Order: sequence, then structure tokens, then C-alpha cells
Amino acid sequence: MPKKKIEIEYEEFDSPDELPIDELGLLGCAWSAREKAYAPHSEFMVGAAVMANEGHIFLGSNQENANLRVSCAERVALEAASMAGFREQVRKLAVVGGKKGIDPDDKPEKIEEPVMPCGQCRQDIKEFEDNTGERIVIISASRNKVRRFVGIDNLLPFAFGPKDLEDDDTEEEEGENE
Ligand SMILES: [Zn+2]
Repeated sequence: MPKKKIEIEYEEFDSPDELPIDELGLLGCAWSAREKAYAPHSEFMVGAAVMANEGHIFLGSNQENANLRVSCAERVALEAASMAGFREQVRKLAVVGGKKGIDPDDKPEKIEEPVMPCGQCRQDIKEFEDNTGERIVIISASRNKVRRFVGIDNLLPFAFGPKDLEDDDTEEEEGENE
């Protein structure tokens, strides 16, 4: 049986300063949003910022409860964009996060590895991308490392999406009507 390989593509920088200015600003928004995380159980604090058309920005942070159900920062931000009527105009998403520092100041510069969206968030980003019809830029950063993906297929290959729920016989019916 022939084996097949797929490649994913992303950029990695040492410094956020190498990003375009709008994405650098979006990252700053994500860091600010992280301060509003409610994570008393995991102490893993995540912030996200979504940019829609015309520079509209929506923020999210993770929100936990004692049942250990988590509303992820990325989804909170995406839902805020959707609620505001920008569901089909989401263009970029930045996410930052890491364990809350032991020191009371929780210095984010101690976070060394960029946090990556969980599986459920990747699925949500996939659906937003299908809604927009354009690839969404996903940026994840620690203080000294940035990963930048153009398109969710680089994080979620062979994704299940809205098209999979369409009726298989739609084409047939359309054919009959011709
Ligand atoms: Zn998530």
C-alpha cells in the first residue's frame, strides 16, 4: 500500500517585530485579553484577538469552571465577532498563553513556547474560514517565538466541515431540473 505524506506550511520568527504592523497590534490585543482569563483551576491563561474587515477587533480569554469545562480564548473571541455580525469577515486570529507565573506579576516574557489552538478551536476556525471563503491568518506567539499560519488547513488537514453535511443527492436533483 503506497504511503502518502502531506506538508503543512508556516513561518516562524524569533521576534514579533517581524510581523506586519496590524498583526503586531493584534498580538498586543491578545496579550491584553489574556489578563482577563478566568483560569483558577488550570492557571493556564490564554488570550486571543480576532481581526475582522475594516480593522474591527474582538477579544477573548479562556473561562473555566470547577467542572473543568473551558471556553477557550479563541472561541470566545470568534463568538464575539459572530455576535457582532462579523462572522463572514474574520481575517486574522492571534493567540497567546501560558501558565500563570509563580510571581504575582505573572510576567509573560517567561512564556517560551507559543500556545497552539486546541482541536475544538481548530474546528471552529475551519468553519469560520468556510463562512468567509478566504483563508484566515493564525498567529501564535510567545515573547521570543512567533508562528504564523495562512489557512486552517495547515493546522487541520482533511478537516470535516459544513460541506460534508450537505445532501449528497443535491447535484443529482439539480441535474434533473436542467
Ligand atoms: Zn481551544
